[in-house]
Amino acid sequence: MTTALFTHTDCLDHLTPQGHPEQVARLSHVLAALEGRDLMRAEAPLASEEDLRLCHPQSHIDRVRAAVPDEGIVQLDADTWMSPGSLDAALRGVGGALAAVDAVLGGQAGNAFVATRPPGHHAETERTMGFCLFGTVAIAARHAMERHGLSRVAVVDFDVHHGNGTQDLLWSEARSLFVSSHQSPLWPGTGTPDETGAHGNVLNLPLAPRSDGAVFRAAYEDRVFPAIEAFAPELILISAGFDAHHADPLAELNLTEADFEWVTGRLCDLAQAHCGGRVVSCLEGGYDLQALAASAAAHVDVLIARG
Ligand SMILES: [Zn+2]
Repeated sequence: MTTALFTHTDCLDHLTPQGHPEQVARLSHVLAALEGRDLMRAEAPLASEEDLRLCHPQSHIDRVRAAVPDEGIVQLDADTWMSPGSLDAALRGVGGALAAVDAVLGGQAGNAFVATRPPGHHAETERTMGFCLFGTVAIAARHAMERHGLSRVAVVDFDVHHGNGTQDLLWSEARSLFVSSHQSPLWPGTGTPDETGAHGNVLNLPLAPRSDGAVFRAAYEDRVFPAIEAFAPELILISAGFDAHHADPLAELNLTEADFEWVTGRLCDLAQAHCGGRVVSCLEGGYDLQALAASAAAHVDVLIARG
């Protein structure tokens, strides 16, 4: 088998203001770091409105579409901006995630990485938020359930920020298990342990500022892996944000490339045990360009070794 890489040059046309952390160079650095790797490379297709409606009402889709500027950059909320290319960039992100699910469930790839931007895990049902327009990973989970008939999809979010959008979109979805580890206190302020979903299908693991790899690994060993084990997923989706790296400017966790490598390997072990190794990972945050590129490469190298 092989590891698929879904990306698209449209994702370089989502422009943000000078100095904004979610910048074009993030994706170019990740793709440069993956050059020469043994990957099945594919273009991320555009998602359709029907795809988006797996998680978002038409009113949200219409609002985002209406906000696309003819030129320049417009601000949607405190952190989220759109340029003329932003809608297509976000649609490539969702489309890439859905195509990756299709490839992995269809057996064309053993696992997959979706390298696109903007990220998606902060977008709520009717709200853009934190650089995100649409809930990419949650839509991919619903796609796997509604169109492939899966009844147990695990979503693991190790981005340093709480995956509030994914949690919101999958809150009442009994066919999913959503796990988020994140620094707390930190924006967006949600993700406390008492937020458990409508069916006990949400698991939040807040980590104190300056927590290192040992704390992170213990939290996963004690809480995350047993929960996934008990859930027995048919597919594991990863919200792969690399901003828990010690060099990241937006947060204060102290992970290294080796920690991302470790958690990826352990999630692949669980996927191997329960679902033929089926893992689809989607890029979320990560704002130190060198740390992001090195961490994403370490993550993908594990996927390649296990694919
Ligand atoms: Zn983040």
